[in-house]
Amino acid sequence: MLEVDDIHSYYDKSHVLEGVSLHVEAGELVTLLGRNGAGKTTTLKSIVGLVPPRQGAVRFEGRVINGQEPFRIARQGVALVPEHRGIFGLLSVEENLKIAARRRSRWQLADIYRLFPRLEERRRNGGNALSGGEQQMLAIARALINDPRILLLDEPTEGLAPVIVDEIVRILKDIRGLGLPVLLVEQNLRVCEQLADRHYVLEQGRVVYHGSAQAFRDDPAIRDRFLALS
Ligand code: ATP
Repeated sequence: MLEVDDIHSYYDKSHVLEGVSLHVEAGELVTLLGRNGAGKTTTLKSIVGLVPPRQGAVRFEGRVINGQEPFRIARQGVALVPEHRGIFGLLSVEENLKIAARRRSRWQLADIYRLFPRLEERRRNGGNALSGGEQQMLAIARALINDPRILLLDEPTEGLAPVIVDEIVRILKDIRGLGLPVLLVEQNLRVCEQLADRHYVLEQGRVVYHGSAQAFRDDPAIRDRFLALS
């Protein structure tokens, strides 16, 4: 469904992705692991056109999307929830959702509130008045109400208290249960292991490991190697 094929991405002259390939199939939740600076965020930005790859291809549902403007890629249903969340602090929760809603979205406000009961409780609160975890939920909710065909998430649990991390995990399990494919960048191995069908590990802009969640669990050597990195 999403296929990243040997992409090379740069910031000016700095060669950050040196041939990254990965794929996400329909209904899969795939995680991208790796230490700080490995290129995980850049991979997501390359997919959505914010850092266009200079070589290689990104295909979504069989069509080449690299080289298109980010808004065109988004319109085809590729949604990125960035690390810094990008919600409107001066608008209420409900206004944030209504602004993001797309006509004929399969997601209505009621569906969003069913998945995120906390957001319903806070619907009249301003974005600025939300906790970090609630802001993260709102960012994911905004992406959903825009009716994506695939969701890319950049470290959604970073800096959150364990009880909120568990709630985000529950939400992501529900999203996976609905069949929406997800590519998740995540440092928290426990979160990855609860959710993922497959993992990729990036190191210095290259994929150094990929395999099923089962294979990853059963292979202490690769697990230790990854754990030693993070
Ligand atoms: P993190 O968890 O810290 O976000 P990451 O794996 O997502 O790590 P990237 O943010 O993709 O890593 O960064 C990959 C490399 O690109 C790093 O060496 C980083 O310093 C560099 N980099 C990231 N953003 C920029 C930028 N805007 N300009 C120049 N270099 C950048």
